[in-house]
Amino acid sequence: MEINISRLSDGRYSYQFEEPVSQLDEEQVVSSLKVDCTLDKAFENHVFHVKVDFEAEVPCDRCLGPAHLHLTNELVFTLSRSEELKGNDLDPDFRYLAPDQNKIDIRPDVLDTVRLAFPMKVICKEECLGICLICGKNKNTEPCECSDEKIDPRWEKLLKLKKN
Ligand SMILES: [Zn+2]
Ligand SMILES: [Zn+2]
Repeated sequence: MEINISRLSDGRYSYQFEEPVSQLDEEQVVSSLKVDCTLDKAFENHVFHVKVDFEAEVPCDRCLGPAHLHLTNELVFTLSRSEELKGNDLDPDFRYLAPDQNKIDIRPDVLDTVRLAFPMKVICKEECLGICLICGKNKNTEPCECSDEKIDPRWEKLLKLKKN
């Protein structure tokens, strides 16, 4: 995912990349990764606007079955030739670009953006019934006879721990 910025005049440029799933080291990604990148060059600044689009499969928080997700995420960062930024590691979104560096590999930034696209909570479907706390069956596929009402709420936590 290299972008050549040598002799680039001021203006807006756009780049597209598509990386096959086999080349991604992200187990949960199950489709190719589509990357849409816009570069705005103005004087000594290069502003990158990166969008990622992919599909993923992660375990559902309720039933542990596979949840299929279509995820997108965006990242904006600036690379600048300005000497003032030299040695400034504080802000990862604003980085110094050495005068002799003419190729930018956006892959590490793209992969960070992919990782950050995953939501904290995942449910396979809104009406997911989850796992029975008594018998441990996936209630979506194996309806069981147990009644949730019988569980003393004080035991619920303990049963959950036992499952893990
Ligand atoms: Zn589920
Ligand atoms: Zn049950």
